[in-house]
Amino acid sequence: MPLTNKHLLPESLRSDFPIITNDLVAGRPLVFLDNAASTQRPRQVIELITRVYEHDYANVHRGIHTLSERSTELYEQAREKIAVFLGAAHAREIIFTQGTTGSINLVARSWGETNLRPGDEILTTVMEHHSNLVPWQQVATKTGAILRHVPLTDDGRLDMSAFQKLLSERTKLVAVASVSNTLGTINPVAEIITQAHAVGALVLVDAAQSVPHLATDVVKLDADFLAFSGHKMLGPSGVGVLYGKEQLLDAMPPFLGGGSMINEVRLDGFTPAELPAKFEAGTPPIVPAIAMSAAVDYLQSVGLAAIHRHEMALTQLAYDALSQIEGLRILGPAPEHRAGLISFAFERIHAHEFAQVLNDQFGVAVRAGHHCTQPLHKLLGISASTRASFYLYNRPEEIDRLVEGIRIVQAMFAPQGRRRTRPQ
Ligand code: PMP
Repeated sequence: MPLTNKHLLPESLRSDFPIITNDLVAGRPLVFLDNAASTQRPRQVIELITRVYEHDYANVHRGIHTLSERSTELYEQAREKIAVFLGAAHAREIIFTQGTTGSINLVARSWGETNLRPGDEILTTVMEHHSNLVPWQQVATKTGAILRHVPLTDDGRLDMSAFQKLLSERTKLVAVASVSNTLGTINPVAEIITQAHAVGALVLVDAAQSVPHLATDVVKLDADFLAFSGHKMLGPSGVGVLYGKEQLLDAMPPFLGGGSMINEVRLDGFTPAELPAKFEAGTPPIVPAIAMSAAVDYLQSVGLAAIHRHEMALTQLAYDALSQIEGLRILGPAPEHRAGLISFAFERIHAHEFAQVLNDQFGVAVRAGHHCTQPLHKLLGISASTRASFYLYNRPEEIDRLVEGIRIVQAMFAPQGRRRTRPQ
């Protein structure tokens, strides 16, 4: 399908992103293709952060003075906005955490340590980020629960028939990424939730790579828990969200103890606060949480459907071009099963060296390494890969720069005789 402007977002939105338009790398405008690691922020988010620090900042839920009231109101309004954005029934189902990692650890420690017994099973997948593996390994060690992993099909999708076989009455929780941060695979989360619920298991969705890119409706999905990060959706780092069904969160003990999470403290004990305060001990990430509301406003003003269309057009373009490069192995499925990222590997060139030259000589920023999916890389028989990930401000010309850079860098690394120039 030829790429036309109707698939793409207007170029004018790039001017909302100062870093994209200001920064030169290798003497050329920056091509930022590392959005799966962290995105950039639009002026609207940066301006809100400045405005809050200049006019509205104080600690929340503490003072009765004007500034504290104002910052508390902004903080709670951000929570309300996120609840609406996710289609949640109540704002008290939205817990501010430090990020996806914080959200998953909260569930593992609070729900997991309370509910899991020896022999119970936690079902996750081989494509998970370490954030959705290690907390379950830790909780399994503590409780005697058993961790099982859904394997992949040859083209890098979840093997759903293996999933069905692994699922049983022993399964208490399924923890799965909605989109793989390495393969780009969009997983059939709705189907997974329906099947898990049929055996009485809960489902935690690691939505770090989907909430910023695809419309999410937690009620329609019937997700029990859903985790994501602010910094991957145009917001600040240091803040993330755990959505949880109210009756589940209500029944869970607080994860961290300290200020704000209590109703009453005696020398010999405490009673926890109601939701959501119960899970927000200490001073929260006040301004980052408030700034999430500007990020949500921005995403909604552009429209998630339009963002997805744009990313899909870029992904198809990149996939077609990368498929033509001899010796380059694309990880993961065909474009119709993936979100806006492509990881690839070469036989003889290490991803780190490759990405370094791509940055230094072409100004193209990509991620190189194991992307916090070491078990997946091992399974694929490689130790590292290079990942290009797209967002709403990327343009087709940038894909051309990536592909041109790859071809030239590959030639530089070619064996003696076929080599054009040595990398500096
Ligand atoms: N899960 C997935 C799928 C991710 O892509 C990431 C970030 N790379 C995380 C979890 C962890 O997110 P954070 O570092 O923001 O906690």
